[in-house]
Amino acid sequence: MQNIATAPTDQAPHFDWQNPYLLLTPGPLSTSPTVRAAMLRDWCTWDDDYNLGIVTPIRDGLVKLASATKPEAYTAVLMQGSGTFSVEAMIGATVPQDGKLLVLANGEYGNRLGRIAQTLKINTVIHDSGELAPPDLGKLEAALANDSAITHVVCVHSETTTGMLNPLAAIAHRVKQHGKIFLVDSMSAFGGIPLDLAELGIDFLVSSANKCIQGVPGFGFVIARREELAKCQGRARSLSLDLYDQWQGMEKGHGKWRFTSPTHVVRAFAQAMKELAEEGGVAARHARYHENQRRLVHGMERLSFRCLLPHELHSPIITGFHSPQHPEYSFLKFYDQLKTRGFVIYPGKVTNIDSFRIGTIGHVFPADINRLIAEVEASMYWV
Ligand SMILES: *Cc1c(COP(=O)(O)O)cnc(C)c1O
Repeated sequence: MQNIATAPTDQAPHFDWQNPYLLLTPGPLSTSPTVRAAMLRDWCTWDDDYNLGIVTPIRDGLVKLASATKPEAYTAVLMQGSGTFSVEAMIGATVPQDGKLLVLANGEYGNRLGRIAQTLKINTVIHDSGELAPPDLGKLEAALANDSAITHVVCVHSETTTGMLNPLAAIAHRVKQHGKIFLVDSMSAFGGIPLDLAELGIDFLVSSANKCIQGVPGFGFVIARREELAKCQGRARSLSLDLYDQWQGMEKGHGKWRFTSPTHVVRAFAQAMKELAEEGGVAARHARYHENQRRLVHGMERLSFRCLLPHELHSPIITGFHSPQHPEYSFLKFYDQLKTRGFVIYPGKVTNIDSFRIGTIGHVFPADINRLIAEVEASMYWV
């Protein structure tokens, strides 16, 4: 049994007796009790109740979230596994044998894009701008102009390592000017930051169930330009991660997954999509995350914590902070103190800088952040 005694006791909108603490992490993150309750029955994957009633509306709904101006140009393919499985499906099933992939990396998740491509033996070039800088647009422009072998470009939208929001529109503009296929890992941003794939010229974008759409973990999805996905037959380097085949299976089977579908997770995701619409869509969710993050930074700076990044590079998703330079400070002890007070934070991932991170996405509200700041102050045992 969870320790209910340590549950938050105020009447913030999240109040949730099933959870002893809020997850202020980059995923999985705190979900609403109604999303979790949606999992309490079984579904037959052969039946129309499931395929036409749940999977197909999810696919249609994702496409609408992805592009308001041209949804008909896109399709959504759901894929079993964590988000990385869908990233691997996207890269492995789109770059042809004679293609070349340019990876823009500025953190752990950008580097992972490169590792996936290299593991799949794809001809890959990696531009690493370092964890604290956005991708180098001049270098991108030069590579696109000088290396005609490049066919595809991939980058991360919100780099979860630091919380940096990468300049997607500026990157997309250059990639499209040179007529290359543009792939985006928008895992931690899609559904929480407004964007329009058709307007930007994004061909493939990946995200997962348990990030800004606030479902539970168990599958990811790729939003793909139909015209480009149609060219991908036979390109995949993996049977189970064959995005083209998964698409065909879902189209022909009206929502049927090729292999066992995570039915309960999918049902919870349908509820999460409904709750996103009820909140007011992506713009309203973005406003809430933005306000969460604004209060977080304001409160933490008042307590003398310093942000890892300049404010103008921040996404509203997750924020990195320098660890206090005090001999008695230890992350684990700080973490434990906050956990008993109802909040779980995240360790840092930046090389050579001692830091920690606090996420502001999920079923988390500005009132929760106010409480968090008070509890951080109470947990600063080293001052
Ligand atoms: C969470 C995340 C992923 C995927 O992680 P999984 O653990 O495989 O779900 C990929 N990219 C980014 C930017 C992320 O934030």
